[in-house]
Amino acid sequence: MPSTANDHDIADSRAQILQELSDASDQMVELIAVSKKQPDERLQAALDAGQRVFGENRVQEAQDHWQARRDIEGLCLHLIGPLQSNKSEDAVALFDVIQTVDRKKIVRTLSEAAEKLGRYPDLMIQVNTGEEDQKSGVMPDELDELIAYTRDTYPGELKGLMAIPPVDEPAGPHFALLKKLADRAGLPWVSMGMSADYVLGASLGATHVRVGSAFFGERETA
Ligand SMILES: *Cc1c(COP(=O)(O)O)cnc(C)c1O
Repeated sequence: MPSTANDHDIADSRAQILQELSDASDQMVELIAVSKKQPDERLQAALDAGQRVFGENRVQEAQDHWQARRDIEGLCLHLIGPLQSNKSEDAVALFDVIQTVDRKKIVRTLSEAAEKLGRYPDLMIQVNTGEEDQKSGVMPDELDELIAYTRDTYPGELKGLMAIPPVDEPAGPHFALLKKLADRAGLPWVSMGMSADYVLGASLGATHVRVGSAFFGERETA
């Protein structure tokens, strides 16, 4: 029988990833378990193993996964997928951290939603470090302006930067650039590194890594 995701032990993989992160970095690196397209029993297994920090790509799916669990002690939800402005209020209502801010319009709608709901998720700005046409994220040369705008406009806090390097390039230079941009702006959080490269991310200064398949097992394709 081929090895399937069901053989994957979430408590074991979590312990191993945490060990690798602590070996790779002098600082505490937050392991965000990316639960998009994972079945409910795996979310529960992660919770049972002690995991409390999760990442989701889509607001709707995140509501399905987490709305009923929102009261779990210590639960911390990160939005790591692109955000449409008409979903801003739902995002503010559910998430603790929104990592994918990449334009002024989103800053405005998030600010309005935060004021309205009296809830102020921490924000991070997604940077398109590879300057790819189709990729979300602000271009590096427009970053300073968006940081200034966010700090002026948003009633909560801007905490850091995130990036997804181009798939066909080594991630290292992109991670190094993101860390440099965050340091220069005085932003403490840097979200970089996924299943294939979280150790590299941690070694280059990530404060947050976003790990899906290496944590949970392969995602459902549907
Ligand atoms: C899906 C996703 C991840 C996790 O991907 P894995 O390769 O499964 O670890 C991390 N970050 C973002 C933005 C994602 O969309």
